[in-house]
Parts: sequence; structure tokens; C-alpha cells
Amino acid sequence: MSRYWSAVVHGLTPYVPGEQPKLDNLVKLNTNEHPYGPSPRALEAIRAATGDSLRLYPDPNADALKAALAQRHGLLPQQIFVGNGSDEVLAHAFMALLKHERPLYFPDITYSFYPVYCGLYDIAHRTVPLTEDFSIRAEDYLPQGDERAGAIIFPNPNAPTGRLLALAEVEGIVAANPEAVVLIDEAYVDFGGDSAITLVDKYPNLLVVHTFSKSRSLAGLRVGFAAGHPALIEALERVKNSFNSYPLDRLAIAGAVASVADEEHFQQSCRKVIATRETLVAQMGGLGFAVLPSAANFIFARHPAHDAAALAAALRQRAVIVRHFKAPRIDQFLRITIGTDAQCEILVAALREILAG
Ligand code: PMP
Repeated sequence: MSRYWSAVVHGLTPYVPGEQPKLDNLVKLNTNEHPYGPSPRALEAIRAATGDSLRLYPDPNADALKAALAQRHGLLPQQIFVGNGSDEVLAHAFMALLKHERPLYFPDITYSFYPVYCGLYDIAHRTVPLTEDFSIRAEDYLPQGDERAGAIIFPNPNAPTGRLLALAEVEGIVAANPEAVVLIDEAYVDFGGDSAITLVDKYPNLLVVHTFSKSRSLAGLRVGFAAGHPALIEALERVKNSFNSYPLDRLAIAGAVASVADEEHFQQSCRKVIATRETLVAQMGGLGFAVLPSAANFIFARHPAHDAAALAAALRQRAVIVRHFKAPRIDQFLRITIGTDAQCEILVAALREILAG
């Protein structure tokens, strides 16, 4: 607190990111990073971009990256917006497209940055409870008489549950809300879902946001993008160009372009994570955990006989870090990122020891 703070700052409740511990040799399964490295072609492109050209500002429009993403997804460059991580893309979308007189709808259990942006930008919002089994129910997002959303956002798969809503149900929500922007945050879709990007040509109210931090293993580079109708993209550009003209630096643009070009590395490394997830889910079941069905690079699990916070603390003592949220409905769950096979074996061995003790 300080008397120098603006009233806005006094009123903020900032997002708390997962811990980035300074210690080596931890099994770090707490922030949903990819366990395998980025495309070697991306690393090479980043190295090649370090040189005298760093004197110069980057392309403010990151045209090379927009072109690569447009081609990859069968869209036009005017249908792509890029930003400094998908968090920045989301932030601009909250301000540009999700702030209306009618409330923004999102699930009660979801990415905890959404209410933070609502606080920052003073956005009216309504949380829609997930069902008992932690699913999003599409009907809850359909207009009911006079009552309808001003805009809608949810992750698919949802975070931190990992549960996927079928693409047909997503389309049902988009089609039933032509007056409202529907933003699908697909940070984790490459680990088991069908992307709604295939629908953006059909629906002018659909915006789909992706990140390079998860399936492309480039969390440290900070790249995210949105795909949607050119009018939605223009709204994001207007906010971006009123805030920071150069959100992507030269290294980020070079690395991201090369990553998009390496489809094989992308597919293969995602397949590996999915295979490890299936093994881990089975092993966790064997230890007595109830695990929600996951289409993401993490699982959400609880043990009927053991307190989740105590389990997280006991894992930490064994140098394994997972994420625990002290929040209503989910405080008995652990969110565990899918690591390498070796990391997951260490996790399972540690859990076995803790449960036996
Ligand atoms: N959306 C969801 C659902 C996430 O879990 C995350 C990661 N915390 C993000 C967006 C943001 O990812 P990034 O800013 O690294 O692209």
C-alpha cells in the first residue's frame, strides 16, 4: 500500500503465477510446461537472429509470423493477431471485445486470470458453475429469454480440470450467441481436442486463442495468437497499438516462425506427452486417485483418503512440485503437469511412499 498508488492499483487482485523455483533437480510438474524441448529448428532460428540486427526494432506487425500461422490454419493473415504470450492476447481481448453492458460469462472453475482481467478493466461478469462432474454444460451459455451474455470465454480443454467440451457443443454456443463474442482459449487443445479455429470462417463472433507455451514448448519465448474474423482482429490491433507497438521481439518472431514450420516435431512431441498422460492416469488410478478425464498436458486428481494440500507438501519434501489451488470446490485436487516418463515415474514412486506412510 502506498499513498502514491492510483485508486485502480488499490483495487487490484493480481494473478498469482505458479512457482518458478530457483533450485535445480526438482521434478517440476506445476506450470504445465512441455517436458521436451522446442523444435531444434526454432532454436537454430533464434540463434541466427542474434546479431547486429538487434539494433533495430522488430516488425511491429510480425507479418512473417502471421503469414506462417495463416498458412498453417488455412486462414488469411488479416485473421491472425499475435502477442507476447496468450496472456497478453487475452488481456487485449478482454478490453477490446469482452467488455459490454451485459455480463461476460465464464465458468466458476477456470483459468484464474479471467477474473483478474475483469478487475483490471472493470468488466461486468457472471460465473457459471461447472456441473457436479466438473464439465461445462453448453446449455448454460445459451440465451434464455431476455437474458443473455454480453460475451463468453472459457478454455477448451478447461483449466485446471483438463476436461474437453466437444467441438459440436462449442459450435452450438457460438451459433446461439450471434450478438456476443465467444472466445475459446485453446491453450491445451493440441493435447487431445479439435480446434475451433476450423470454425472462424463461419462465425464472425468467434475468437480462438492459442499459445506457443504448451504444445510448442516455447513458454520462455512468450508467443500467443488469436484467430478470428478480421473485424475482431482489428479490435485487438487497435488496443495493441495503443499499448505497445512491438510486443514480439526479433528472437520471438524468428523462433515462432521456425516452430510453425516444424510440423513433425510438434506432432511427435505432443503424441509423446499424450502417451505418458495415459500411462500416468492408469497408475494414479492404481494408487486410488480419482482422475478427471484429461485432454490437456496435465491431470486433475484427488485422493478420497488424503488431503490434497498435505499431499502437495509431502511431494515437495521429495522434490516434486505440483499445483494445489486453495479454492472452493477444487481444494481437494492436485493439478499435475505431464512430465517425461522418468519424471512421472518419480512422481508415482513418491506418491506410493507417501500413501504407504
Ligand atoms: N490460457 C490458459 C488456460 C492457461 O492455462 C495459460 C497458462 N497459464 C494461458 C492461457 C497463458 O499462457 P501464455 O501466456 O504462456 O501463452
